[in-house]
Amino acid sequence: MLGPVILAASRSDRMRRLISAAPVTKQVVDRFIPGETVDDIVPIIEDLTGKGLELTMDVVGEDITTPEQATAARDAYLRLVDRIKDLRLGPKVEMSVKLSMFGQALENGHELALANVRPVVEAAAAIGTTVTLDAEDHTTLDSMFAIHEELRKDFPQTGCVIQAYLFRTEADARRLAANGSRVRLVKGAYKEPAEVAYQNKHEIDKAYVRILRTLMEGDGYPMIGSHDPRIIGIAQELARKARRKLDEYEFQMLYGIRSDEHLRLAAEGHRMRVYTAYGTDWYGYFMRRLAEKPANLRFFVRSMVSK
Ligand code: FAD
Repeated sequence: MLGPVILAASRSDRMRRLISAAPVTKQVVDRFIPGETVDDIVPIIEDLTGKGLELTMDVVGEDITTPEQATAARDAYLRLVDRIKDLRLGPKVEMSVKLSMFGQALENGHELALANVRPVVEAAAAIGTTVTLDAEDHTTLDSMFAIHEELRKDFPQTGCVIQAYLFRTEADARRLAANGSRVRLVKGAYKEPAEVAYQNKHEIDKAYVRILRTLMEGDGYPMIGSHDPRIIGIAQELARKARRKLDEYEFQMLYGIRSDEHLRLAAEGHRMRVYTAYGTDWYGYFMRRLAEKPANLRFFVRSMVSK
């Protein structure tokens, strides 16, 4: 019941100001967002890749309001790519981007987001890696898929995310599986109305499995974005039935969540990619992590009152 309330708060400027200013917030935030600058994050990249993990890097931020902020977002990603170039990790470290941070919701937002994200995709390709377009709320997705298709003309490795809770996703999965795309499947983290999305966890889990089967049986590269032990077991079984080799799909989890499981799957020979977010504009990302698990919120509230 708390999840939808927290997700509504994640879009409130008043709550953003209140929570961001609370002195203890930072300690709780660090569990999910382990740095603010490229300098903070490079040692973490070195540490995780040294343990056999792969990464997808997210510079936190979304829903920007001026074209200058969109340009700043592009430049932040370009600085990251420039910095990781020297680590020579190639496809082991890719980037995840939210198009709302690249100007998608502004005037001529579709064109603006495409113009801002393209240089990041080009820079990533130049160091042997790629970019995945995150999925945001359902109103943004037609534009996201069109940008994905456009980028794939020059950079076929560009990935995108689909959300099992949306009714539209089974059709999106069929299209993407047939055209050989890299696709991350997640359950979905936004507050969506009943007209477009399943509201019930059981329905969402069942849809996730149906969609995953489509991806595994298709021609693309499935990326299983979930911490759910049941989903991970089913994914292994579906991969086996589809005769996929270990390098023909991958698991993805978020930094700070089920970290032992990251290492266990990597030790079993799976490609395991950790979604690692950093930066100062962490509010929206942090609130979605609280909404996913009530225990996170209890821990956060306890830290605030115990100070
Ligand atoms: P759940 O059923 O929610 O959780 C299963 C178990 O995982 C829980 O019982 C708990 O043990 C653990 N767990 C899950 N979440 C948390 C948490 N926050 N804190 C602590 N433990 C937790 N969503 C989008 O809408 N768009 C995206 O682009 C997107 N990208 C993602 C990228 C990756 C790599 C991952 C892993 C998730 C992404 N998500 C995205 C979030 C996703 O939609 C879910 O909200 C989130 O993954 C929780 O779902 P779950 O599959 O882990 O299963």
